[in-house]
Amino acid sequence: MTATIVLPRLIRTGSGALGEIADVLTRCGITRPLIVTDPTMITLGYADRLFEALAAAGVAYGAFGDTEPEPTETSVIAAEAVLRAGAEGGDYDGLVALGGGSAIDTAKALAVLGPHGGRMRDYKVPRIVDEPGLPVIAIPTTAGTGSEATRVTVITDPENDEKMLCMGLAFMPVAAILDPDLTLSLPKRVTADTGIDALTHAIEAYVSRKASPFSDQQALAAMRLIAPNLRRAFHDSEDRAAREALLIGACFGGIAFSNASVALVHGMSRPIGAFFHVPHGLSNAMLLPAVTTWSIPAAPRRYADCARAMGLAGEGVSDAHANDALLDELRALNAELGVPTPAGFGIRPERWQQLRPLMAEQALASGSPGNNPRIPTADEIVALYDAVWG
Ligand code: NAD
Repeated sequence: MTATIVLPRLIRTGSGALGEIADVLTRCGITRPLIVTDPTMITLGYADRLFEALAAAGVAYGAFGDTEPEPTETSVIAAEAVLRAGAEGGDYDGLVALGGGSAIDTAKALAVLGPHGGRMRDYKVPRIVDEPGLPVIAIPTTAGTGSEATRVTVITDPENDEKMLCMGLAFMPVAAILDPDLTLSLPKRVTADTGIDALTHAIEAYVSRKASPFSDQQALAAMRLIAPNLRRAFHDSEDRAAREALLIGACFGGIAFSNASVALVHGMSRPIGAFFHVPHGLSNAMLLPAVTTWSIPAAPRRYADCARAMGLAGEGVSDAHANDALLDELRALNAELGVPTPAGFGIRPERWQQLRPLMAEQALASGSPGNNPRIPTADEIVALYDAVWG
C-alpha cells in the first residue's frame, strides 16, 4: 500500500519565532498578507506584536480580528468581505492566521473561498479540494488541533449545525510558526481541552486503518511529548519546557492525523460540538475513554503501543496489561483535568436523547468512523453516546 504525505513547506520553531514573520513571508513569496485573528489575540497584545514586526519590515498588511471559536460559515463570510475588499495598492496575496484552531481554520476557508468563491458546503467531504488556494502561514496559540500542519478545515454550517469537514491540499498551510511563548497565557480549561485533542489525534492516527509507517512515527512522537507534559502545563501555566513540548507534540499529532485520518472519537465528537456548543477538545475528551474501551478488541497491539509511548507500560508488559494501563490513564486524566460528562456539561437530557440518531448519522457521514479499527453501526454509535452520557 502506498501513502501520500503532505506537509507545510516551512516550519519555524522556538521562543520569539513570531518576530520573524517578515522573513517567513519573504520565503513564501507573500508581499501583501491579510492577518486573520480573534479578539483574544488583540486583547493579549499578540496581534500588536505581529503588526509591529510587519511594520518594522515595511510589509503592507490588512487585518480581520473577529474570527469566532468553532467558526461558523457566517463569520467566514464576514472575513471574506474584508479579503475581497483588498488592501491599499492591490489584492491580498496570502493569509497569516494568528490564534487557535478556530482562527487557523477560518484563514484556510478564506484561502479557498477567495480564489474559487462559492459556499463552504461546496467544499466538504467527500469532495477533496486539491485546487491551489491562497498561501496560509499559521501561527498557533493553542497546543491542540495541529491545524498548522493539516490539510483540513472544520467550519459549521449555520443552517443545519453540521460541523463540515473539508479536506485537500488547498487547506495545507504553506508555513507554520511555532512560538511557545504565545501559549503561556492559555487558561487551564483551554490547556486541558486542546491537550486532550492533540493526544486524541495521535492515538486515533496510530490506530487508524489508514496509518502508514510515516504517520506512525509522528503519532508515537506526539504521544511521547504530550503524555508527560499535559498535567505539568495544566497545573503550572508558566512551565515553558512543558508548553514547548506540547506545542511540538500537537504539531506532530496534526501531521499524523492529517496523513492517516482520525477515527471514531472525532466522528462522534463533531456533532456534539455542533449541536451543544461543546469545545472540540472537550467533546473528544468526553468520548476518548469509552470509545477506546470499545475499540481495543479490534487492535490490542496498536493500543498497547500507545500505552508504551505514553510511558504507561514497559516493553516487557503484555498487551492486555498495557491496555488496562491506557484505559486507567485516560480516565484518570479526565478526572484530574476536570472533564465533565455531557450531563455534567449541562446538556438537556431530552435533547441529547432526541438527537442521538441524527448525531450517529452525521458521524458516519463524515467518514471518520470508517477509519476506526472496530467499525461501528449507527446503533452502536447511539449506544456509545448512551455510555458516555452520565
Ligand atoms: P480555539 O481556537 O477555538 O480557541 C479556544 C479559546 O482559547 C478561544 O476563546 C481563544 O481566543 C482562546 N485562546 C487561544 N489561544 C490563546 C492563548 N494563547 N491565550 C489565551 N487564550 C487563547 O480552540 P482550538 O481548540 O485551538 O480550535 C478549535 C477548532 O479547531 C474547532 O473548530 C475544531 O473543530 C477545529 N479543529 C481543526 C482541526 C484541523 O485540522 N483543521 C483539527 C482539530 C480541530
